[in-house]
Amino acid sequence: MFYPRFYVRLMHGSFIRSAVVAGLGLALASPVGAAVTFSFNYLDVTGVGFNAVGQTGIDRRAGLAQAGDYLAGLLTNYNATINLDVIGSETDDFSLAAAASNFNAPVPGNGFGDRGDVMIKILGGDSADPNPGAADGSIFWNFQDFNWEPLSDFQPGELDLISTAIHELTHTLGFVSDIFEDGSSFFDPPGVATIWSPFDEFVADSTGPIISDTTFILDSTRWDAASVGGTGANGLLFDGPNAMAANGGNPVPLYSPTLWEDGSSGSHTDTDFFTGANLQLMNSEASVFEGLDLRVLSSIELGTLQDIGYTLLVTDLTGDLDGDGFVGITDLNIVLGAWNQNVPPGDPLADPSGDNFVGIEDLNIVLGNWNAGTPPGTGANVPEPSAVSLLLVGITMSLNRRRTRG
Ligand SMILES: [Zn+2]
Repeated sequence: MFYPRFYVRLMHGSFIRSAVVAGLGLALASPVGAAVTFSFNYLDVTGVGFNAVGQTGIDRRAGLAQAGDYLAGLLTNYNATINLDVIGSETDDFSLAAAASNFNAPVPGNGFGDRGDVMIKILGGDSADPNPGAADGSIFWNFQDFNWEPLSDFQPGELDLISTAIHELTHTLGFVSDIFEDGSSFFDPPGVATIWSPFDEFVADSTGPIISDTTFILDSTRWDAASVGGTGANGLLFDGPNAMAANGGNPVPLYSPTLWEDGSSGSHTDTDFFTGANLQLMNSEASVFEGLDLRVLSSIELGTLQDIGYTLLVTDLTGDLDGDGFVGITDLNIVLGAWNQNVPPGDPLADPSGDNFVGIEDLNIVLGNWNAGTPPGTGANVPEPSAVSLLLVGITMSLNRRRTRG
């Protein structure tokens, strides 16, 4: 049985099913040698979005490519080329961007096996492509309502394109719940055995999984409470073993505001819970008002990807401040370059501890994971700096901006 599906999640709206956009724009692939390559089909007309004229378009495409390279660096156990349609002409007033995998595989039986084309190809290689010759997913970008810095030359008021691109690409990997507001799946109403995504196996409340792993029936009473239960343990949780291990053995709060948000509730780490030094890239909102944002998935988020089925070579890149997939001299220089300076809230690049001051605690975050990851290019590892005692400080950082991303 063949049941093609294509859907896109947009913030503050319902699921939209639409036909695949025809045509190809410019394509820019990741560097040769990456086991997984994210290849982008830029569908904007000339002068718009990612096809903006001149250096602006070049830099936007380069920023998106860097985000793909980062994820490819985590997926070196696999070999696939992921083709994503990119549309940079979105005009939703509040949403920064959105993304989704396409779904073209035959419908699986009841359970948690509803994988998107992106995940199927990464896990099984290009030969497993359920819809060869077509894109595997889509990314939508809002350049109209927000100012974006495509790389790292931030001016006042500019948002971090690379950070949000990593966020969106991570959704296409399967970091997303397929449970609708009323507890239905894509296939069935609540209360019956049905088909769910791998992520949904671990959607839980404080008493455990909400969907039975034997009957595949969602518990509507508990779903109705937890899905709008608010922050922390009152709301939805993710209880996959790897994510929990990275969270001190505790289930990971998922975003579940008291007013359901289509495309956001249940599919993100809890923006209201993970704040300050515990900010997560998969929070539903960008972390900062302007400037450099998180560019590295946390151990919790990497654990989540493992729980849904990926084997990752690098599982902890804490301290990779510039997001190049390696903790080394460039990260150290970011900290030292801003040493002893007060920084405004929202500059987590040099201030990963989030205390608005660049000092020993930030240095220790880098040194604490020195040499983790894969050195960019052919460069050899950098010698370890002289030891500095770990002095990790937990600080809360107030959020002064609430902008969402799908
Ligand atoms: Zn999102």
